[in-house]
Amino acid sequence: MKRGIALLLLFSAAGLAFYYSSRHNAQSSVGPEAILNVVADTEREISRVPLRLTRLSDQGEIRIGDAMARAYLNRNPAGADEDALAHYIATVGATVAGRARRKLPYRFHYIADPSLVNAFALPGGHVFIGEGLLRLMDTEDELASVLGHELEHIDNYHCAERVQLQARLRHVPLSGLVQLPAEIFMAGYSKDQELEADRDGTAVAVMAGYSPSGALHLFEKLGKLHRAYVLKAGNPDQELSQVAIEGIIGYFRSHPLPEEREQQVREMILENHWPERKERALRFRPKPFESAR
Ligand SMILES: [Zn+2]
Repeated sequence: MKRGIALLLLFSAAGLAFYYSSRHNAQSSVGPEAILNVVADTEREISRVPLRLTRLSDQGEIRIGDAMARAYLNRNPAGADEDALAHYIATVGATVAGRARRKLPYRFHYIADPSLVNAFALPGGHVFIGEGLLRLMDTEDELASVLGHELEHIDNYHCAERVQLQARLRHVPLSGLVQLPAEIFMAGYSKDQELEADRDGTAVAVMAGYSPSGALHLFEKLGKLHRAYVLKAGNPDQELSQVAIEGIIGYFRSHPLPEEREQQVREMILENHWPERKERALRFRPKPFESAR
């Protein structure tokens, strides 16, 4: 009986998703990102429905994630001449991933795209970070906090649950999901899941030897950008290109307010008596933009 109700709820939610996405399309020309946000919103609504019926095995999750990562990397090749930076990110990621509970083949990828002011995780262990987000950073501790946050979406089964929900929404068995676009995983998760990834991501970064102030400083910068470009109050510290501004606006559409995320980490520092640690400067960075002059 319970199963019947759960399925009914899921299917009506799927119907609503398609209704809203077509309506949304008719009203504006904001493109596929709006659809992704609707998908994420719908998932937020229906993720309360238990999905224990079709638990994805680790092997299945890795297989689906590997196929998606391959397809995404084919379309977004790693930047030329950025091998040292990509290797650096992979090294910091591996250090943090050593503290994750799930033992998965975690891999960290750099995407040389200044408009990608975001990072995201795919099922099974792939984490991607965009050039636009890296350009906001000054320290390795900030980088470790973001990589920790993303890998905790995998570690906490948020990515695996999204695969299960997508299978339901598309009426295909889990084994038929190899063609899921990576973009579906760029949309944020529920607020609870985002805050959970912040908590666990900060904890694994601290266990790996990083300072929790990395997360605080990044949230402060994101807060300034949010006030400047979304609330249109105050000036940002750094000038952003138009594509980066669009990227950052998209980021805030799918993430909790930076002030709330910062406050949560401040409370964790007090509760856990984490010692003050000096942040380390980034050892590699994206190359400076060519001067327009
Ligand atoms: Zn997240």
